[in-house]
Amino acid sequence: MPLSMKLLVIGSGGREHALVWKLAQSPHVTQLWCAPGNAGIQQERTKQTEKPIECVPIGAEDLPKLLAFAQEKKIGLTVVGPDNPLALGIVDLFQKNRLRIWGPNQKAAQFESSKVFSQRFMEKYGIPTAKAGTFNEPTAAKIFIESLGGKCAVKADGLALGKGVLICANETEANKAIDEILVGKAFGAAGAKIVIQEFLEGMEISLHALCDGKTAKLFPTSQDHKRALDGDRGLNTGGMGTYCPTPFLSETALAETGRKILEPFMRGCAAEGIDFHGILYPGIIITKAGPKVLEFNARFGDPETQVYLPRLENDLVEVLDASVSGTLNKIELKWSPLASVCVVMASGGYPGSYAKGKPIFGLAEAANLPNTKVFHAGTALNDGKIVTNGGRVLGVTAWAKDLKSAQAAAYAAVGRICFEGAHFRHDIAAKALLT
Ligand code: AMP
Repeated sequence: MPLSMKLLVIGSGGREHALVWKLAQSPHVTQLWCAPGNAGIQQERTKQTEKPIECVPIGAEDLPKLLAFAQEKKIGLTVVGPDNPLALGIVDLFQKNRLRIWGPNQKAAQFESSKVFSQRFMEKYGIPTAKAGTFNEPTAAKIFIESLGGKCAVKADGLALGKGVLICANETEANKAIDEILVGKAFGAAGAKIVIQEFLEGMEISLHALCDGKTAKLFPTSQDHKRALDGDRGLNTGGMGTYCPTPFLSETALAETGRKILEPFMRGCAAEGIDFHGILYPGIIITKAGPKVLEFNARFGDPETQVYLPRLENDLVEVLDASVSGTLNKIELKWSPLASVCVVMASGGYPGSYAKGKPIFGLAEAANLPNTKVFHAGTALNDGKIVTNGGRVLGVTAWAKDLKSAQAAAYAAVGRICFEGAHFRHDIAAKALLT
């Protein structure tokens, strides 16, 4: 890879702030842009050249403008955060124009953009998953529900803003979900097909593996908290907080689980002509019969990235460059022995409707705390003041020698920050501390 280069990061959430923060620490980076970015990203600087990160007002799905910008600035590496541009084929477009870009191409991104594709792939290549069926009409789907005994997950095939999964407690609910998606078109074209999975009982955790087409390197485990309220109550959200590592898989069990998922995954990709460069992020449930994959994502998790990157000791530019080049076998991922915790502070009303533009106080005080980083998600600058601009506003992250201290440090930082209507969960990482 070239010794110095210009970088472009695509996206505007907490994940992208964490990526920008970590990439900006690399001595290889001369200048870094983010499209469209947020108010926190805008405050970062490249470590080597001390250049402020510039946020450019181009949406993450505006592929032609992103391409023109990367060409104009002679970007050496573009890093894609969110799933939508990947599903739209941004990697294929950039590569066709001989631009270096990190992330899976459109065919590989199907692991996230089509649940039917993923489910069939898992079954064909023997990846441990839930008992499932895929359907495009309600009659066969309802017969399958009967065979499952009612309790199940009904999933729209395509991307549905994280809302396409309906957990059903019995046959009546499941039949209603099938009708809503296949007949009522609740998710439009994303719901033209569905996957129905048996309901899996057990602890849910996130895995991440960085892939380069031939090699996959597993990260430590992390755990998201998807429900809005303490005790896993309330509505599903994009993620209210996370921590790393989890105590639910020993190192040996993690390595074994990784092998059971990644070996057939790589074999299947080779057989199907899928060249997967990027992050494979399987959501898994540890059942009595062992870990099973619920779904695949094809990008970094948000907020998982916020707890992974403070622990990663490698230069992220070198790591992502190796993922593009197919040279990951030459890199050993090194993780600090610390634990990290991220608590998401959200706007009042989220995940329902919420107001924007509320001034945020205490960010400077929180920034002074040691081993703490406040990653911004939905924030904007208004008259020089940082204000709320989204549902998930901040990812308040801290790291320490153990999970308990990291949790205390993250909540101490949360305690310094306030904005009207702010809400957050008080039990991030609590499950791990009970064991
Ligand atoms: P997904 O987008 O497929 O990860 O589903 C969203 C959430 O629904 C997951 O994070 C799980 O908490 C839950 N879920 C999905 N599928 C299942 C399943 N088969 N059994 C139990 N819970 C599930």
